[in-house]
Formats: sequence, structure tokens, C-alpha cells
Amino acid sequence: FSAHVKGLLHQTQTTCWDHPKMTELFQSLADLNNVRFSAYRTAIKIRRLQKALCLDLLELNTTNEVFKQHKLNQNDQLLSVPDVINCLTTTYDGLEQMHKDLVNVPLCVDMCLNWLLNVYDTGRTGKIRVQSLKIGLMSLSKGLLEEKYRYLFKEVAGPTEMCDQRQLGLLLHDAIQIPRQLGEVAAFGGSNIEPSVRSCFQQNNNKPEISVKEFIDWMRLEPQSMVWLPVLHRVAAAETAKHQAKCNICKECPIVGFRYRSLKHFNYDVCQSCFFSGRTAKGHKLHYPMVEYCIPTTSGEDVRDFTKVLKNKFRSKKYFAKHPRLGYLPVQTVLEGDNLET
Ligand SMILES: [Zn+2]
Repeated sequence: FSAHVKGLLHQTQTTCWDHPKMTELFQSLADLNNVRFSAYRTAIKIRRLQKALCLDLLELNTTNEVFKQHKLNQNDQLLSVPDVINCLTTTYDGLEQMHKDLVNVPLCVDMCLNWLLNVYDTGRTGKIRVQSLKIGLMSLSKGLLEEKYRYLFKEVAGPTEMCDQRQLGLLLHDAIQIPRQLGEVAAFGGSNIEPSVRSCFQQNNNKPEISVKEFIDWMRLEPQSMVWLPVLHRVAAAETAKHQAKCNICKECPIVGFRYRSLKHFNYDVCQSCFFSGRTAKGHKLHYPMVEYCIPTTSGEDVRDFTKVLKNKFRSKKYFAKHPRLGYLPVQTVLEGDNLET
């Protein structure tokens, strides 16, 4: 093993050994803590991580092919660090062929291994479950959002392509480890995924098993535990968007990224950095409904429900109390330590 891998494996609860590039990345994420909306803050952090690991270049179906190639069929099997390195090396070798100038294979393998161990092996046993590796890599791969939901579901579903409560629980558990590692889990209902599982099955009349379509229908409601994932896709789609509008607060023109427009005030546009940091002007209140715009650069599918979604997300607490949103569970927020293992 390289010194890095040894360092990673010898991490104890008191000392944290990260690749210097990972330390640098995690430190750089601190400047995002002024983003007031947790789903956006988390999604922007994950987007930076995804790019640092070059996973924004990795197509979902390629990820899936690599899993097949390495015969990762037994999801509850434990992979040792050399197995994970093998799988990552195949992944990044493939990426390097297409993006020579962007992908440094040894560095990417090291960083991605570092990330996977941080997320899925906090006790540093040197082992990662096959399913965790798959859910982690697929969640950060590139692709259409609903395609991603389909792949994730397929991983945990049985041979009949149906999923019971336990299987959905395993999926959500592995997925939520991603925001948890960034210190963001409390906003998504904490590490306890049970209320989310319950909400999904309640929506489906408490049938013993759900189909992929029923899973996707539930995910479209953006349940609290998973809302960071659709927002990650919106963040990616908005990145290159330019809007012919001027920010009423910082005067940025054109607005790049998300553009927010008031439904209460005429001609009131706000750029994403002003919106996220909660700056307002002209007596505009933060809870006033806003519409989010981004040029649909990828596909209609990723950006379809913007208007509707935003009206719900940024409405006042009173509104939520009066109109509880199906699928968005007001789960009790808990403060958690680092060592939550299930
Ligand atoms: Zn602005």
C-alpha cells in the first residue's frame, strides 16, 4: 500500500488522516456554510466533491459496467481496500481515455478511496460493503436524475424487481451517508431513515413491496432524507446558465447560475449567492414565494418541476403547518456525533 492508504487505514477516532488534497477540499467547503438552505448548501458541497473526484465525468451506465466487470453481484459482501482500489482503477482508467487532461488516475483513485472510507468505513476496518460502494459511486455519477433513481432502486430490489421496507431502508441508509460525511445529515432527518421508509410505503397503501415506478413517484416528492440528490442535479444544470437579468441586490448582470424571481414584487430578481446568503432588498421578506430559474441545459426531466418545488421549499413555516407536503416529513432534527454506525 501507499503511505496514503496506510494512513487511511490507521485512522483512529482522535486523529483524522486524509489525503492532503482531500483536506484542502474539505477546508474549502467551509466557505459554503453561509448558504442558508441546507439542501442547497449540501448539494453545492457534494457538487464540489463530485468534481474533485472527477465523478461528474463518469456516466451512470459506465459505473454499472465496471461493477459487472468486477463481478460485484453480492451486495452484502465486504470488499477489502485492494478490491476497492481495483474497481476504482478500472473506473478511472476508462475516464482517463476520454478525458486525458482532466483525469490523473493515481490521484483520483487515492482521493475516491479516501472519500469512500470516510463515508462508509468510519471505524476504519478496511472493508466496505459492495452495496455501499455502488450506492456511493452511482449517487455521484453523471446522468439523468430519474435514470439514477432507477439504477439505485435496481441495486437493492430483489429478483422480482420489487423492493420491501428493509431493502429501501438499506438504500436510503447508504445514500444518506454522503451528506452525513459532510456534516449535513441533521437537515435531512438525521441518520434515522425509518420515517422516510414509512412515508414511502404509506404512500403506497402499506403494500409489502413497491415497484420502481412507485419508488420514482415517491422520489419526485423530494422526501426530506433524499432532497439533496435532486438539488445536486439542479445545481449541476444551473452551473452554466446565464440569465439576461440583473440582481436587485449585488447588481450582477447577467445573473449566472440560479436566478430567483419574486412572485410578490414585480421585477425583483436575485442571483444565487445573494439568495443563498439570505440578503434581501426593498422590504422583501425571505419567506415570500420565489421562482427558481435555470436554463434547461441537460434535459427537461431534471428541471421540470422547478416552479412548483420552489414554492413549497421556501414558504413560511406557517404555510407548511397548514399544508403539510406529502412526502416531506417534518422529522425531528437531532444533533449527532460522528460515530453513528448501523
Ligand atoms: Zn446578487
